Amino acid sequence: MTYDSNNIFAKILRGEIPCKKIDEDEHTLSFADINPQAPVHILVIPKGAYCDWADFAATASAVEMAAFTKAIHRVAELTGISKTGYRVISNTGLDSHQEVPHLHMHVLGGAPVGPLVLAKS
Ligand code: AMP
Repeated sequence: MTYDSNNIFAKILRGEIPCKKIDEDEHTLSFADINPQAPVHILVIPKGAYCDWADFAATASAVEMAAFTKAIHRVAELTGISKTGYRVISNTGLDSHQEVPHLHMHVLGGAPVGPLVLAKS
């Protein structure tokens, strides 16, 4: 997949669209999801131009990967959900219904998040 630099998260990274920032470092930005599915619903994104998890896993540097992993942990700590538990989800590829083609991890918590939703065969 070719990266689309007009996607909404690219615009947030360029400061063209506002976001409710939770955390930022050299390689990552974390902000509140505009349509939260749990009391705490944060999106963690890399600053690099990666379409999805598959793209990131195949081509990101080890430094970017480490920063991304640490950012997910950090937002869980910052929002308090590390105390009670949380779920990390990334949609990748057609079956996942990924809407925004810039890698993002959904970090959800603040209440029981229920069972995983599995596709029926
Ligand atoms: P996905 O279906 O995994 O691509 O999820 C995209 C997520 O981005 C959804 O949960 C949306 O609510 C969220 N979203 C879309 N636009 C914005 C925005 N401008 N600010 C914050 N979250 C957004």
